Amino acid sequence: MRTSLDLTRRQLLAGAGAGAAALFLESTGVQAQTPRPQGARPIVFTHTTVVTVDGQMDDVALAVENGVIAAIGPTEQVQPRYPNADVYDGRGKALFPGLINCHAHLSATIERGFNEDFGFPNNLKLAVQPNSLLSPDERVLMSVIGMIEAMKTGTTTIIENVGGIAREAKAIADTGLRCVFAESFNDRENAGVMSAELLVKSEKPTYSARLRDEGMQRIADLHSAWHGKQNGRISVFPAVAHAENCSGELLQAIRGFAEKHDLGYTIHANQSTWEADYMVKWHGLRPIEYLAKYDFLGPRFIAAHCRYVSANEIALLGRSRTIISHQPGMAGNRGANPPIPELRAAGATIAMGTDNNTNDVFTVLRVGLITERMRRNDATPGILPQPEDIFEDCTLGGATAVRQPKAIGSLEVGKKADLIVVNTLKPHLVPSGRILSTWIHNGQPSDVESSMVDGTFVMRNGKVLTVDEASLVAEADKVGQRVWKRVVEAGGPIPIPGRSRRR
Ligand SMILES: [Zn+2]
Repeated sequence: MRTSLDLTRRQLLAGAGAGAAALFLESTGVQAQTPRPQGARPIVFTHTTVVTVDGQMDDVALAVENGVIAAIGPTEQVQPRYPNADVYDGRGKALFPGLINCHAHLSATIERGFNEDFGFPNNLKLAVQPNSLLSPDERVLMSVIGMIEAMKTGTTTIIENVGGIAREAKAIADTGLRCVFAESFNDRENAGVMSAELLVKSEKPTYSARLRDEGMQRIADLHSAWHGKQNGRISVFPAVAHAENCSGELLQAIRGFAEKHDLGYTIHANQSTWEADYMVKWHGLRPIEYLAKYDFLGPRFIAAHCRYVSANEIALLGRSRTIISHQPGMAGNRGANPPIPELRAAGATIAMGTDNNTNDVFTVLRVGLITERMRRNDATPGILPQPEDIFEDCTLGGATAVRQPKAIGSLEVGKKADLIVVNTLKPHLVPSGRILSTWIHNGQPSDVESSMVDGTFVMRNGKVLTVDEASLVAEADKVGQRVWKRVVEAGGPIPIPGRSRRR
């Protein structure tokens, strides 16, 4: 019998989900998940808890038909309407809307251990960059590993922000999650993301029309190849990398492209004090003021981070109804939380993301709740934000950010069936009458036992149905071990800042 070990890495990835996974699953007697044809069997979750915008409904059924939530109500009323349904016993389970990750860098998965503990920009001076040691196939592998992590931790929609997505687009799409490909580039010729060192050495920025044209062409090509594909499951947004690396012409071109095709668009904004100092030094404006000058702000625009924003920048973001993608895990790592309540009060919409290294947006929710309670230092501490606030930012805020607020982001009849099933019969989740709060405070990502996107299971009872998880993880581990060894060989052991031998 053919086993997963017989598959080459290329076979695992090329063809991706369906191809390689089907081969593997066939060999193990499990059928691979194929896209659900219209009119396929309805699915009814019975006697379960459904987390809605207004709270939770206990001991109800939720029916999915043709990719859409068709009914929510008492099991004895809903179930008989679907006599041929695939019945999912929902006792001891809770259904949540799928989580939406609005800022990810899947390809940065290889940087785990090289990036989290070295500040921003990363001050670990490696002799060789881990990414440069990957073959093209291995780069795709890292993105797919990130997608599997996202799926297993409750994400059903993800915005991947990187340049050159075309190389891994098919493999990412084949994992079955709802995706936004945010194809990113910049047009500055001299230097990269600002640091203390670069700021001192910085010169007047110069921009390249050639880089601009090439980048815009890449976005246009990706858009025509992928936008709206897979029953609308895939979107393409234009993106620019950083305010300090973009000309006004580029900002206008990006916004123009987004308006023309009715898309969102995104940037990394106000990540460091050096970025703001650089912008003031060479443009006489802080980053958000610079974006405003070129009419870049607005309700289509997702500004990621916004960790260092002035009162005027907060007002500009709020007035323009810009969407802020908040990455609490990364903000915590970098030791700088954005002023989320102030941005919200000014009029901005808040969404959530992971950023580099991790694609587990569930854990980000808890970090976001705790770090914000600490940052607020309220007179009556420990009350705001509530788990429901954070969850709503992630789901409904995320749905607004990906421009699908009527289709996803909550469990409501008529919305697309993007949902996750959480097993609540766990020592850390019982007893509880308010499962959303208990899950955010006490839950573990592995409580997610099943995940459905567009009415199709991508994971069921812990088994990923679209790709061969075990083989891909084993392969990624092999690559990771090799890369770590090569980096250490080239430049010596990876230092641990601030640590001296204590014993
Ligand atoms: Zn980022």
